[in-house]
Amino acid sequence: MTATGVLGTAGARRGRERARVVVLGGGYGGQLAAQALARRTDAAVTLVNDGDRFVQRIRLHELASGRPVEAPRFADLLAGTGVAFVDDRVVDLDLAARKVQLRDGAPLDYDVLVHALGSHTAVPEHAHDVSTPDGAARLAVRLADDGVRRVAVVGAGLTGIETATELAETHPGLTTTLVTSGSLDDDLSPRGASHVRRATARLGIRLVEHAPVAAVHPDGLTLADGLDEPADAVVWTAGFAVDDLAARGGLAVDADGRILVDAALRSTSHPDVLAVGDAAAPVAASGDVVRMACATAVPAAQHAARTVAAVLAGREPRPWRFRYAIRCVSLGRRDGLVQVVHTDDRPRDLVLTGRAAARVKEAIVVNALRVQTHPRVPTSA
Ligand SMILES: Cc1cc2nc3c(=O)[nH]c(=O)nc-3n(C[C@H](O)[C@H](O)[C@H](O)COP(=O)(O)OP(=O)(O)OC[C@H]3O[C@@H](n4cnc5c(N)ncnc54)[C@H](O)[C@@H]3O)c2cc1C
Repeated sequence: MTATGVLGTAGARRGRERARVVVLGGGYGGQLAAQALARRTDAAVTLVNDGDRFVQRIRLHELASGRPVEAPRFADLLAGTGVAFVDDRVVDLDLAARKVQLRDGAPLDYDVLVHALGSHTAVPEHAHDVSTPDGAARLAVRLADDGVRRVAVVGAGLTGIETATELAETHPGLTTTLVTSGSLDDDLSPRGASHVRRATARLGIRLVEHAPVAAVHPDGLTLADGLDEPADAVVWTAGFAVDDLAARGGLAVDADGRILVDAALRSTSHPDVLAVGDAAAPVAASGDVVRMACATAVPAAQHAARTVAAVLAGREPRPWRFRYAIRCVSLGRRDGLVQVVHTDDRPRDLVLTGRAAARVKEAIVVNALRVQTHPRVPTSA
């Protein structure tokens, strides 16, 4: 059956009953997709999330540093939208029967499914993480312990840089080390990398580059070259992973387990399933798979709603042509980096730094929450 044919079945239902659209995962992608679907279609939209509050994941390094982070209730975010909310854990997908199996509740039937279950960090034993609220809260408690003097943050991607600078700024008494197998120059322009080096030096962070980690112990790290890097707390930020729910259910996935989708964000194996956010592997206008990011999950969610609306109305959906523009990194609360990138995400040697960049980053983070209840508010990368 063609993609349009499958979703067209749902479209054909409109005359006699509303199509049932079930959205899995209430993160930046799923919550927004549910809101946008309720606005753009007359479908009965249900959002399923494990937990009754929206997690501002892009602020979890702030939570880890001890700063409270607002976690709005889905009941409030969805009030007046008509979206039904189910607080439950998705444990299985029966794609043939079009059913979602839940841990506690009865299975949910769907005509169209939007998979937005996100990702997690695969954290080694003895390490902390900032990818879940529980992980970030545990780290905050650990760092408040007087006995903790040295913290090592592993991974100098954007999350590792944000975490190390946030912790160093909030806990100036700690010795903070940022350890990476690569170099800051891998992902940033020369000016961008120089600014991050200046910021880490100003905050007293020791930067250890080209140092793959061989093992994590209760008392620190062993590097691949055999040297020990003592630490009272290790924070692991290297690499997001997706769980195997999609692959187990029979959806076509890539080598990382991310769902393969067509240009309109429909699963290549099951076109009545759309996928957005970290769990999906859509291809950007450049031809590369998009980076796992809030900055890509939000526009993908908006587009997924457009796809469903088009097909339910009997129109051919339009392709998603995502182009990168900027990457924004907080460096504590008073400094930041806005790295301008080419449309294919390669850094240009053009940056905004300092307080102005910190303000831009904060505005984007605020907007990423605001867009959850105002799905047409423009978003940035
Ligand atoms: C500290 C930190 C800082 C970051 N900063 C940035 C940044 O500045 N810019 C940027 O673009 N990206 C940033 N990211 C990445 C960004 O947070 C993710 O890419 C983004 O959250 C992905 O959105 P999503 O909707 O796919 O998944 P998520 O936002 O993770 O949402 C997934 C949702 O699904 C729920 N869920 C998962 N499994 C199940 C299940 N089986 N059943 C029911 N519910 C389930 C989860 O509880 C969650 O609510 C950051 C990440 C971290 C950890």
